[in-house]
Amino acid sequence: MYKEIEQYFQENNLPKFRINQLEDLIFKQFVSSFDEMSTFPKSLREQLNEKFDLFTLSLVETKKTKDTVKFVFKTKDDNYIESVLILHDKRRTVCVSSQIFCAMGCKFCATGAKPFKRNLTVNEIVEQVLFISNYLKNKNERVTNIVYMGMGEPFMNYDNVIESIRIFNDENKFNIGARHIVVSTVGIIPKIKEFMNFNLQVKLAISLHAANNKLRSELMPINDQYPLKKLIEAGDQFTKKTNKKVSYEYVLIKNVNDSEDHANELVKLLKGKLVHVNLIVYNPHEFANFEKPSKSVVDKFKKILNSNNIESSIRHSIGDEISGACGQLAGKN
Ligand code: SF4
Repeated sequence: MYKEIEQYFQENNLPKFRINQLEDLIFKQFVSSFDEMSTFPKSLREQLNEKFDLFTLSLVETKKTKDTVKFVFKTKDDNYIESVLILHDKRRTVCVSSQIFCAMGCKFCATGAKPFKRNLTVNEIVEQVLFISNYLKNKNERVTNIVYMGMGEPFMNYDNVIESIRIFNDENKFNIGARHIVVSTVGIIPKIKEFMNFNLQVKLAISLHAANNKLRSELMPINDQYPLKKLIEAGDQFTKKTNKKVSYEYVLIKNVNDSEDHANELVKLLKGKLVHVNLIVYNPHEFANFEKPSKSVVDKFKKILNSNNIESSIRHSIGDEISGACGQLAGKN
């Protein structure tokens, strides 16, 4: 609850250095209680204990695999949200949630299978990374990257997401470089246009998952409102304005969007553009009746993109054994 505490300091005319200390304790030392704030006098710690909770979230569960840790949090209003820490070489990436479930209803997604509850507050978004930073502190490591690819559509919670990005990027707080932050959207075109004027160099990923309107609308109902042609135009405008390439996310689902024809359609849509395609192998889960494609199908799909000079990579589903992979964050039952 950093913002509220900072406000309290200001209203009570505490000297500026106390606010600097507060920032340092929360965002650099990742303390987990007011009692750990030993640079503050005892009386101040007591006041804070009495008036505030340091966190609005409480950590209820962690599940680990070799290269991921899933964190389940409970909100004050008894909802559950999830974040995933991905360990890759020296990178420590946190996949944050921005909403409690999601109204976008993508057919392959576990989050979208449950009714949307509400947007997360700035505190709730930031605290996911505070808890994970505290977890990493014990291993002498820190969060290096943030991706808004957890539960929810970040651009439907635009203002809070933008404010949280500023906090992640602030050199007096998390100090995570803007280029190490990625916001992923289903393609809310007006927000993509707003985002291209955001003054930080944050990256944009757009979930495509199909290269024709009929199939995309079946998989992602939002396509009826923001169809492919206009979406790709918005992606092009983003690149022109920011000089940054857009990542297009494409979840490969067996016998749905993984054929050579589908790959050729994607080539037609993106050829000659400054883009990167992330091919994500679908993670089966209980909320949808889809299957994972075989490795040879995935490789063939990528080969077609490569032979047409479309840069791509295959994202394997790290974390799927703990339901922490893309499209699998469904909150605790
Ligand atoms: S894929 Fe993303 S936007 Fe679509 S329903 Fe799931 S969480 Fe929402």
